[in-house]
Amino acid sequence: MTVPSLVWLRRDLRLSDQPAFQAAAAAGPVVAVFVLDDERAGGRKPGGASRWWLHGSLEALQRELERQGSQLILRRGDAVAEIAAVAREIGARCVHAIRHYEPWWLKAERDLAGKLDLCLHDGNYLLPPGSVTAGSGQPYRIYTPFARAALRMLPGRDPLAPPRLASPASWPKSDRLEDWKLRPTRPDWAGGLRDRWTCGEAAAQAALDDFLDRAADYEAKRNLPAIEGTSRLSPHLHFGEISPGQVWQALEGRRGVGVDTFRGELLWRDYAQNVILQFPDYPEHSFRGEFDRLPWRRSPGDLAAWQQGRTGYPIVDAGMRQLWTTGWMHNRVRMIAASFLVKHLLIDWREGERWFWDTLVDADYANNGVNWQWVSGSGVDANMFVRIMAPLSQSEKFDAAGYIRDWVPELAHLPDGEIHDPSPLCRPASYPEPLIGHREARERALAAYREAKG
Ligand SMILES: Cc1cc2nc3c(=O)[nH]c(=O)nc-3n(C[C@H](O)[C@H](O)[C@H](O)COP(=O)(O)OP(=O)(O)OC[C@H]3O[C@@H](n4cnc5c(N)ncnc54)[C@H](O)[C@@H]3O)c2cc1C
Repeated sequence: MTVPSLVWLRRDLRLSDQPAFQAAAAAGPVVAVFVLDDERAGGRKPGGASRWWLHGSLEALQRELERQGSQLILRRGDAVAEIAAVAREIGARCVHAIRHYEPWWLKAERDLAGKLDLCLHDGNYLLPPGSVTAGSGQPYRIYTPFARAALRMLPGRDPLAPPRLASPASWPKSDRLEDWKLRPTRPDWAGGLRDRWTCGEAAAQAALDDFLDRAADYEAKRNLPAIEGTSRLSPHLHFGEISPGQVWQALEGRRGVGVDTFRGELLWRDYAQNVILQFPDYPEHSFRGEFDRLPWRRSPGDLAAWQQGRTGYPIVDAGMRQLWTTGWMHNRVRMIAASFLVKHLLIDWREGERWFWDTLVDADYANNGVNWQWVSGSGVDANMFVRIMAPLSQSEKFDAAGYIRDWVPELAHLPDGEIHDPSPLCRPASYPEPLIGHREARERALAAYREAKG
């Protein structure tokens, strides 16, 4: 019998268009291994919502592998030591893995490559991060030229079919997924996640199919939080249940501004990873120095009100409650809620980034850090700090009345004219007054920024 190969899985929990699986299967029997390594990422171990999703994704992959007579081996501990140990145990010739670019994974890949034959593949981005460069060979720092250059290189290779997997003569021992306790029991806060999401590759494909029928309307509808105008593929893409190449290819032959805009959003995902490759601790520090001098407010009360959706700004509160309940928030509302925290409440963007990290099912080191720094104005490519979003006019402009009714039920009875900014006469006693008025907040933020600029 041929020597087995090991497939080391991380955020690439799929069988189709999975080059590590393909390469391993082509060489003989395959042992797929996932290691839960909470220490390696330091303060960046997956948050609560991500752990919930991870359980579902591993469970789905395990089911699919078992259907093929294969298995998913689960280990907990130091990823490098565990992968090396399983490789030794099964006498693996080679470890195949898809490249990941979070700094802790880059280090793990270097460490593992020093111990055994590690074969890394590209597969979780449209183009390998670092491969889109300007004429000078330098990577891009700004999205627009990055996207323009990337478009010239796309489409990439065709997606790969799922492999046929042969089993080794014997299987190494595996943990039981339930023993990892990735999902909450008491208190069980995950009811809204269960209602909203199905994890795994088949669900990712179904979400893509569902979106394809709506892709032509993406431009018109993507900013309207009250309707399902976007794909909701983000957690599936984050966990690698579907590859962006598969999504890109599914759009082939479809034309129109909706499809182009959607492709542009997929390119933001590649761009964000490109930023992290250049600045590995980007989600931890403001890129622009003046933001270190900004007199951020320390207000645990205001931060908690924002987290709990009790700021008195209905659109912000609706978004924060959608996030808490379902682990996801509409992109337009993410921008409004993030801007509100940073500019209206003058609270350091990193507090918000951390909250999103813990509560989003799509929490992603690159996407989260890059978007928070974009909204706050502190990033390498960023919205200017002095452009202060007005939550009330955003709420009206993007027709959020239905969205607010869904997520802030105490305001559901209000007419459209009142619901974005309930007057004191209409506001029910159970709904808080605004933490701060828009004009006052704007002046405070601008003064703080002037002080920081010196
Ligand atoms: C403050 C803030 C924090 C964010 N944090 C995350 C995060 O942790 N993880 C995450 O995946 N997205 C994040 N985003 C980006 C965006 O909000 C989500 O990707 C999007 O809302 C997911 O919904 P969708 O799948 O329906 O997106 P669609 O509109 O259908 O877009 C398709 C895909 O493109 C990618 N994409 C879309 N917009 C962006 C963007 N601005 N940046 C990077 N990729 C994008 C996503 O993978 C998404 O699934 C954040 C945005 C903001 C403003």
